[in-house]
Amino acid sequence: MVPATPARLGVLTSGGDAQGMNAAVRSAVRAALEVGAEVYGIYEGFQGIIEGGSLVRPFSWDSVGGVLQHGGTLLGTARSPDFVNREGRKKAVYNLIQLEINRLIVIGGDGSLTGAQVLREDWTSLVEELIAEGRLTPLQAEKHSFLAVAGLVGSIDNDMFGTDMTIGTDTALHRITEALDAITSTAASHQRAFVVEVMGHHCGYLALMGALASGADFALIPESPPNLDEWEEKMCSLLRSGREMGRRDSIVVVAEGAHDRHGKPISSGYVKDVLTRYLGEEARVTVLGHVQRGGSPSAYDRVLATLLGASAADAVLKARPGDEAVLIGIQNNKIVHKSLADCVAQTKEVNRCIHECDFEQAMQYRGKAYIDSFRILRTLIRANPRPPRPDQKRLRVAVITGGAPAPGMNAATRAMVRLLEDSGHIPLGVKRGCRGLINDDIQEMNWMSVNGWAPTGGAELGSSRKCPEGAELYAAAQSLERHQVDAIVMIGGWAGYHAIHRLYEERHNFPAFNIPLLCIPASINNNLPGSELSIGADTALNSIVEVVDKIKQSAVAFNRCFIVEVMGRYCGYLALMSAIATGAERVYLHEEGITLRDLERDIELLKQGFQQGKRLGLMIRNESANSFYTTPFIAALFDEEGGDLFEVRQSILGHLQQGGNPSPFDRILAARLAWEAVRRIEEMAQRHQAKGYAEVGAVCLGIQEGDVRSTPLYMVPRLMDAELQRPYEQWWMELRPVARMLAQPGPAYFRQAELGGEA
Ligand code: ATP
Ligand code: MG
Repeated sequence: MVPATPARLGVLTSGGDAQGMNAAVRSAVRAALEVGAEVYGIYEGFQGIIEGGSLVRPFSWDSVGGVLQHGGTLLGTARSPDFVNREGRKKAVYNLIQLEINRLIVIGGDGSLTGAQVLREDWTSLVEELIAEGRLTPLQAEKHSFLAVAGLVGSIDNDMFGTDMTIGTDTALHRITEALDAITSTAASHQRAFVVEVMGHHCGYLALMGALASGADFALIPESPPNLDEWEEKMCSLLRSGREMGRRDSIVVVAEGAHDRHGKPISSGYVKDVLTRYLGEEARVTVLGHVQRGGSPSAYDRVLATLLGASAADAVLKARPGDEAVLIGIQNNKIVHKSLADCVAQTKEVNRCIHECDFEQAMQYRGKAYIDSFRILRTLIRANPRPPRPDQKRLRVAVITGGAPAPGMNAATRAMVRLLEDSGHIPLGVKRGCRGLINDDIQEMNWMSVNGWAPTGGAELGSSRKCPEGAELYAAAQSLERHQVDAIVMIGGWAGYHAIHRLYEERHNFPAFNIPLLCIPASINNNLPGSELSIGADTALNSIVEVVDKIKQSAVAFNRCFIVEVMGRYCGYLALMSAIATGAERVYLHEEGITLRDLERDIELLKQGFQQGKRLGLMIRNESANSFYTTPFIAALFDEEGGDLFEVRQSILGHLQQGGNPSPFDRILAARLAWEAVRRIEEMAQRHQAKGYAEVGAVCLGIQEGDVRSTPLYMVPRLMDAELQRPYEQWWMELRPVARMLAQPGPAYFRQAELGGEA
């Protein structure tokens, strides 16, 4: 019998760096330590395994402290030409076995994961060679008969098959969107055209989503090149028609791997020449370059990387001899384990399709959300309204923003207006939420009336929590009749949903409400039924994370513990997600409640931590977590109990969470939901006309398992706790154990001799 092999795990980052790699390393290391495994950090990618020595070091809980907010990777990364050769990999196998590391987590791009797969495949034969050469003993070989491998995709390109998002993509999109917003304002001032080149050799994700998020006017991506003939002229005539409508700028986003249908590269310089030639105006080129890889990771990337890292540790520690290498990814908002070999092969297949100009197939591989986004972009940039389809009546659709303002409401309104016009309908803007309905403050809108709205925060139409009651219902019905409104779209939070539900309930009294009614979730609280995510929540999360990063810096200097209060009403989404993204050691949610015993235990843990050298404490509290144990109360209690060990400050973040320019994710979500809303409204109106139903459709749209789905409006009271204003079922509650495990070290931590401190 061979003695049980110790669970010893190596973690490395390889290939181009990507923001969020640190979060993945931190979480993988801590998750493994927590279950008693030994962990080694491998520096400089695969080269680190080949060279060994000081490039492979034992890691403790604190080796990965204080890294969440940093871009790049603490392990360093490299491209290793040696590793591509079998001889190089043989050295790697030798070193890993000498170190008794038989489980490996590789975080990198398609190349690195190919490397990991090749190492896994060659393992047995390389071990045999090493025995034949007398460098390994048969006993060693038997002990390390196989290598468990898990791959995480850390790459800003989002070009890997098997995962919807890769670590770093969302942050790169933040950088791109910030740059495009900035360029748009200067371009508009000078009436200039700009060509902006973004990264992506084989994958147009960043170019496409960047253009969609920033409201750019054209995008060139590798998977779907412009149609063959005279695309240059067609692109320019599209840009020209936008200009004729009154737009002052033209922005073309080009992926670095863009090419035409014959595979001939389209460079940003060429696009600039085209613009100058056909439009006769000054054009400038901006190549964003490595800025896209830089900066602090976004909230999404931190959370994603954290979940993937923990799952990877679990996967390699549970792996049995003979198990395939796995890729840990996210699909439809769920963590998935896939065969790494299959994902590597499929990724190559997509790249082959592009090289061989089979663009249809390449787009199919990218999936529905990608194809939809491309269609949406193409529609949004088309300035000329079209007549309705022959089988479709021209609809007059009222668009309302309701409830507390949520970043992204404007992007959603803009998309609604343009998509409605493009389908031949007439958009009507209702001012100040349902007040506009009651006071008859309703105006027709057009393509230009929403120009420049995509990047702005707040709600240009105005919003309110107003729900029509009594005589106001009559007034609202009259306005709808006067403007011959055929359908209502509410882009709003709980108050907006509530108001539309009210109209729905009053249909039997007011035939004017008997029209298609549709709600789009827009609330930073993310507390709406029928949707896993609402527009605005991602922006709020990023605002919180940005501030908490700063608070953490100030706290370290003073041995302080901060109690940070975040919004959400009775819904703990923002609190939990920001805790994961900032590494808070404790999160107080209304869903879980707070007891005196909890607080006592937290004080004990804080004291223990600070006594052992910890320098900062961070607790995040949902604003309504408990009406007695308020933020000032907890701060005072901890301060008093902390004595000389640490001091406590509170920070109530307040309305900064509702403001700010929407994140790229929220803008893209807004466009996706608006696109689907137009289709649903047409369907509902058609069904109504065809069958003359007394009862007309009334639905809430939302994202469920990665797709846009609708929930009947009558279900809302059954799905929501009306008093607490949150859905009975909240998917993110499942993430609590990971948050708890990573933030609060268990027995493993206290076993270690060395203790430092990070929240
Ligand atoms: P990104 O594309 O995001 O920058 P990447 O991981 O794709 O990252 P690459 O330079 O392609 O970056 O690969 C990184 C390293 O992975 C290479 O330097 C090499 O050591 C290893 N690697 C890549 N392809 C292979 C392969 N076919 N066989 C063995 N090792 C490989
Ligand atoms: Mg690559």
